[in-house]
Amino acid sequence: LSKMSKMKPSESVRVVVRCRPPNRRETADRENILELDGKLGRISIRNPNAAADDPQKTFTFDSVYDCDSRQMDVYDDTVGPLVESVLRGFNGTIFAYGQTGTGKTYTMQGVSDDSERRGIVPNSFEHIFTRISRTQNQKYLVRASYLEIYQEDIRDLLCKDNGKKLELKENPDCGVYVRNLSSVVTKNASELEHVMNMGNQSRSVGFTNMNEHSSRSHAIFVVTVECSEAGADGEDHIRVGKLNMVDLAGSERQSKTGAKGKRLKEAAKINLSLSALGNVISALVDGRSTHVPYRDSKLTRLLQDSLGGNAKTVMLATVGPSARHHDETLTTLRYASRAK
Ligand code: ADP
Ligand code: MG
Repeated sequence: LSKMSKMKPSESVRVVVRCRPPNRRETADRENILELDGKLGRISIRNPNAAADDPQKTFTFDSVYDCDSRQMDVYDDTVGPLVESVLRGFNGTIFAYGQTGTGKTYTMQGVSDDSERRGIVPNSFEHIFTRISRTQNQKYLVRASYLEIYQEDIRDLLCKDNGKKLELKENPDCGVYVRNLSSVVTKNASELEHVMNMGNQSRSVGFTNMNEHSSRSHAIFVVTVECSEAGADGEDHIRVGKLNMVDLAGSERQSKTGAKGKRLKEAAKINLSLSALGNVISALVDGRSTHVPYRDSKLTRLLQDSLGGNAKTVMLATVGPSARHHDETLTTLRYASRAK
């Protein structure tokens, strides 16, 4: 009998919210609608257009990070433990969810030439290889893949021919996988960072409007850590953990932006995978659901073995402080709070 019991959902899914600092225009507006209480993990939102007696809404999360939070604050208490569990051979996934312009990419990637502002992805590289360098009697193999889901099509960001659409396959031995996806063996953190930069470059190839493209596609960076260790029985024991870091498409409701035709269809697909993800996570958190709807989108199918079971998940929702975005911010807080 396995000694390892299944984790309670509350341990396996953590939901945190980060608020980005006001930009120059918002500072001039002086209409901050959010109030964060880091100790209690609470965030309150005020509706600027509601009657004066309309109470503000309050949500509670595992952690909240205000606009003064630093990249390392987010890393140390939210991401670090998940990466530790990947190093022990479990799977883990971090999602950045939120409206375009609220800091998903800043939080995930950050600013690479500034050590204070490096994001979750490069900090995880550092973490993984520092830990590996301190171990003895174990051999590690670290591999990276980087892919993108755009309109339910999967593209390899590490392959020269990156216009090619890749297929999701399933087999009994390795579960769901992307056929022909590149996997690069890396020996240190800077090689991983190089892989990340290559992938980022290829994200923009073939798209005239890079910002628009990246706000409509999901980027998934996958680090697989394989560890082999000689057991007492003389046999090698291998454990494999997979870390998925996902910069999701912008959560803004596309229908409001007046999209038509092809654009509207595209919008429907973006919203479909985000709502499929919300459904999967809330089914996992609920714990009583017998059916987890992984099959409803490419994103959730692809990450099936890293969501639920013994895998850990962090849902990191990003919001802006401004009254201008009250409706979208409220929608993001509701989405995130459904995941708890
Ligand atoms: P998204 O990826 O969600 O569209 P970005 O990460 O591109 O948003 O962030 C939008 C802008 O806000 C960028 O100029 C980014 O540098 C800035 N920004 C976001 N979050 C922070 C933060 N926590 N601290 C400082 N600047 C931030
Ligand atoms: Mg972005």
